[in-house]
Order: sequence, then structure tokens, then C-alpha cells
Amino acid sequence: MKKDLIAKNLSTLKKEILGAHLVAVTKYSPVEDVVMAYEAHQYDFGENRVQDLSEKAQVFNDLGLNKVKWHFIGHLQSNKVSALLKIPHLYAIHSVDSLKLLEELIKRESDFTGSELKLFFQVKTSKEEEKTGFESAEELDLAINLIQGRAHTKLKFFGLMTMGTIRTTEFEAEASRCFKDLANIAQNIEKKYNLKTRLKLSMGMSQDYKLALAAGADYIRVGSAIFK
Ligand SMILES: *Cc1c(COP(=O)(O)O)cnc(C)c1O
Repeated sequence: MKKDLIAKNLSTLKKEILGAHLVAVTKYSPVEDVVMAYEAHQYDFGENRVQDLSEKAQVFNDLGLNKVKWHFIGHLQSNKVSALLKIPHLYAIHSVDSLKLLEELIKRESDFTGSELKLFFQVKTSKEEEKTGFESAEELDLAINLIQGRAHTKLKFFGLMTMGTIRTTEFEAEASRCFKDLANIAQNIEKKYNLKTRLKLSMGMSQDYKLALAAGADYIRVGSAIFK
């Protein structure tokens, strides 16, 4: 049965990841499968399209599944920010990939209905064309200064996110390099800005989460290894 398979995959993963958090990525899965995962006590879910997330969140709301935490993990267009912020139980955005997007989030902050929204700044550690994220230290600095300089805000600079290189013959070495780079960047930011809490690292997907955990991942985003 599908439900047993999902529960089994989740329990295997949870044993492997110890203290790290699992974001179950549901972008290829119908909402029925997501509900099955919820019934197996998985509450953190990731989606990469605002429309799909909005539809799933609506179903969860109608069913009263209130422990859910939605994580947005895809490239976010400015014109979708408002719709995203209005989604009930939105917990984090892992893909703040430009200063412009951060500015838009700040502008639309009042659309967010929760008490705190955790933001991960996405850093481009891989050279792959289709990936987005901060590429220059200067732009990243501007974004950090902007968010840290605001008092009374629900938007929290929570961590950094990256995606490992996928298409390479040196797949493992390259992915590990991306993850270690992210960990180093986080450490440098913590020092430079004198942060009191450690930045969380969101990195690792089905094919490379073990490498990400070895490099210190706090959040892994896994889809196919759970839902197939
Ligand atoms: C799809 C996706 C994942 C999960 O990928 P799987 O290979 O299915 O585990 C993780 N992160 C992001 C940003 C994604 O788009």
C-alpha cells in the first residue's frame, strides 16, 4: 500500500538524519499522498510553485490538519509574493535568491498572517545555468544588512540554502564542495555580523542528502526518496 511505503520511507530517513530536519518535498505528489505522510507524523512539507502550494494548503486547512509547516523552496516571482504570504501555515521560504525579491517580501510583509516567517538566502554554489541564487558577496551583504537593520519585523534571517551540482561526472565531489562552501559562507556571516544564533543550512536532496548531512545540513529537502 502506498501509505505503508511512504511511512516506511519516512521512518528510514528520520533514523538517518538524527538531529536534522526533514522537509518532505511534495511537488510531484498528489495531495492525498501528502496527507498520508502527515498521518505518518511528517509535518514539514516543501513545494516549489505558489499555485500548487496554495491548493494543497487549502485542502489541509479544510481537513483541519493544523500541525503542518509549509516550506517554499522554488524560484519565487515578485508578482507571486503576496499570494504566497497569505497561505496559512507558511513556515519558511528557502529560496530568497536576490535583493530584489527580499525587497518585495518586505514590501508585502503585512500579507503574512503568522507570527514569524523564516527566510533562507539561496546561494549559488554550483555553476549550473538554470540555478538561481546570490552569486556575489556584495549583493548578499546588501541583503543581510537590509534584513538585519529592521526592527519589528516578522521576517527572520534564518539561514542559507543551496543546491549541489547535479550534472557532472564528479557528482559526489562537486556536491560536497557546494555544501562545504555554504557552511563556510554561513560561518563567515555569523562572525562578520556577530549573530547570536547559528545560521541554519538547507541543503541536500534525494540523491545527495547524505553528503549534505556530512557537511552539516540542518534541513534536507527530500522528495522522490519518500514519494517515489
Ligand atoms: C525538487 C526539489 C527538491 C527535492 O528533490 P528530490 O530529488 O525529489 O529529492 C529539493 N529542493 C528543491 C529546491 C527542489 O526543487
